[in-house]
Amino acid sequence: MTEAFKRLSDDDLATCVHCGLCLDACPTFRMTGLETESPRGRIYLMTQWKRGTMPFDDEQVRHIDLCLGCRTCEAVCPSGVPYGRIIEAGRADVEDARRPSLKRATSRVALREMLSHPKRLRGFGSLTRAAQKAGMTSIVRSGRQLPKLRQQFRPPEGGVAPAVGARKYRVAFLVGCVMPILYPQSHDAAVRLLQLAGCEVWFPAGEQCCGALFAHNGDLESAERLREVNAATYASEPFDALVVDSAGCGAHLKDFYPTLKGRVKDLSEWLAEVGLPEPKRELKMRVTYQDACHLAHAQRIKKQPRDLIRAIPGVELVEMRHADICCGAAGLYSTLEPDMSRRILEAKLDDLLATDAEVVLAGNPGCQMQLESGLRSRRSPMKVMHTAELLAAAY
Ligand code: SF4
Ligand code: SF4
Repeated sequence: MTEAFKRLSDDDLATCVHCGLCLDACPTFRMTGLETESPRGRIYLMTQWKRGTMPFDDEQVRHIDLCLGCRTCEAVCPSGVPYGRIIEAGRADVEDARRPSLKRATSRVALREMLSHPKRLRGFGSLTRAAQKAGMTSIVRSGRQLPKLRQQFRPPEGGVAPAVGARKYRVAFLVGCVMPILYPQSHDAAVRLLQLAGCEVWFPAGEQCCGALFAHNGDLESAERLREVNAATYASEPFDALVVDSAGCGAHLKDFYPTLKGRVKDLSEWLAEVGLPEPKRELKMRVTYQDACHLAHAQRIKKQPRDLIRAIPGVELVEMRHADICCGAAGLYSTLEPDMSRRILEAKLDDLLATDAEVVLAGNPGCQMQLESGLRSRRSPMKVMHTAELLAAAY
């Protein structure tokens, strides 16, 4: 096990000074008001397990399970507690020690058997799309949660998309595992924006899932295996930046791929840095923006997407209340912890609908799917789009 994937560390846990300044920012504390569902409470529990002074029983494990891993606490902590690293390490320890549960064991096997096998995943995507067309998935709960699938995203022949005009940069693009199947239109828009910004876009052949979902669910061994495959792939050709349009993947690549240090960029971060040409079209639209946790808190990127949105003529950006509070998606959380996920989503929907926006923008597929599912349940006509889709529509 390398340094990046080390297990719970005393040094990390000791950075918490128990001040409680993170409590009000924590979505599960806001819902329950319980110390055990707060960052401080969870750090305390993990510290006691590590010292062997508290039993590792089902009741205590529940408090770790209920953490969204949203890292809002990390962003507001004055003491610099590396909560993201602590909870991922804590989860790995929990998974090793807990009594096996069918639901969690199934999700671990499903992740291993699907996400690390791009061909299987694409096959599953094609089957699901066919089933959707035949109207067959509405009887399956997860089928209702999935967006309406389109033709999957495929990199161009030769694995390179040329820059529009003079080539100023060469970027690698993370195609990822589920995004080309669930939201191919986001990738299409992202690649087009990169080309317009003067980037030649390279799609590294052999690239696999970045490992984020594995790490978030305590399967650090699988995450590390995937990192080794991908690190070798990225080392095979030169590039200025690895551009990512999924916040969860971007955060994971920044935290756990030391060979890419300083070169992983969220799409909005990169576009804000290199600049886009003047938009060609006015879009008369009232929009709002949901901060993906792994963009706002893990990567501390809040300004760049808003600046890019505001630069589109005709677009009115209305801020929603608590825009940087989690929507309850959190990777597999909405499947593993549906009750808490739903409670958090309902609060988010209230804030969202109060904006009266036509469109809500987000930079992460999990948030898109969660918001779409919530808005459908409220029978709202509000649309969900990836930020890249709105920006690309202006050209
Ligand atoms: S995690 Fe940070 S903000 Fe929260 S109690 Fe500990 S030191 Fe305070
Ligand atoms: S990661 Fe999110 S849910 Fe977990 S303790 Fe921190 S703020 Fe709360």
